[in-house]
Amino acid sequence: MYTDPDGRIDILSLTLEELTEVLIEMNEMKFRAKQIFSWLHVKRVTDFGSMSDLSAQLRQKLDEKFCIKSLFIVKRLESKRDNTVKYLYRLPDGNHIETVLMEYEHGNTICVSTQVGCKMGCRFCASTIAGYKRDLLPSEILAQIYTAERDSGRKIGGAVLMGIGEPLDNYDNVIRFLELLSSKDGMNMSLRHVSLSTCGLVPKIYELAKLGLGLTLSISLHASDNKSRSEIMPVNDRYNIDELLKACREYFKITGRRISFEYALIDGHNDSREDAVRLAKLLDGFVCHVNIIPVNKIKERNFTSDRKSAQRFRGYLEELGVNATVRRTLGADIDAACGQLRREYEI
Ligand code: SF4
Repeated sequence: MYTDPDGRIDILSLTLEELTEVLIEMNEMKFRAKQIFSWLHVKRVTDFGSMSDLSAQLRQKLDEKFCIKSLFIVKRLESKRDNTVKYLYRLPDGNHIETVLMEYEHGNTICVSTQVGCKMGCRFCASTIAGYKRDLLPSEILAQIYTAERDSGRKIGGAVLMGIGEPLDNYDNVIRFLELLSSKDGMNMSLRHVSLSTCGLVPKIYELAKLGLGLTLSISLHASDNKSRSEIMPVNDRYNIDELLKACREYFKITGRRISFEYALIDGHNDSREDAVRLAKLLDGFVCHVNIIPVNKIKERNFTSDRKSAQRFRGYLEELGVNATVRRTLGADIDAACGQLRREYEI
């Protein structure tokens, strides 16, 4: 169980079963757990005083035993073009994270962070420049969604784990977050509407596959050969492309879920026709989709590309029979590369 420095249990990170056990230990009736779980995960109150159908005595006891994690909105940037909202949140310990709420035809999807900073060192990513500080708790990942829903008044139907951090490097907390997110007594989001993006922590992909959660696995591939992948993604020196794709095949075999490969296009690095040919060869036989992303400009790095280059690269892949799209640019008028907002605020 996760506790605060003052020893109070982080109640938002508890499953309903765990909450039931703690309440029984406190000599409370079992049914109270469902009631409290609903106040937290359906009505989304942020203090025990608001749980109006509990006695004042019980509310006091809860306040002594538990804490409810909440996030403070430091900055809120709203796109005038497409209703994308980018949040900079402050965590209870003073660290900052980013969350993006996006509007699609089928509904609202949120992009959440899973760590404060990142250890993975991908060269094109602003999230890694200031280094890694800590993992987010399940409650802190969940609270990004609850806070955005409350603030925006928009119902969120899908989530992508693609914000700051490597989700599989915070494996246990992320799995617990997914369990809470999809709880029938809580937010009840179908994991079919969730995508988890990883730079390729191979052993964890095998572990995730065994859980058979039904979410979409999104692999940050970004290159078609080991040399150029290692140049931009140090993780490739630990798990090379062959090992990564072997794990992806196993993931598909077990879950039957199509894999999405992310390809951040960098002019002059991975955008040639030869790259496309190599990529098509690598993905031959996969049930997959390639998502081409024109790389974000980061002031510390020299990388660029634009939609024109991305469309050209997509054309190469289509000719080679690979299913590919160019990621839609949302919130272009508030754009800041992932992790950039946090850095500008903290440094
Ligand atoms: S791209 Fe993802 S894994 Fe790589 S440094 Fe950025 S946040 Fe970490």
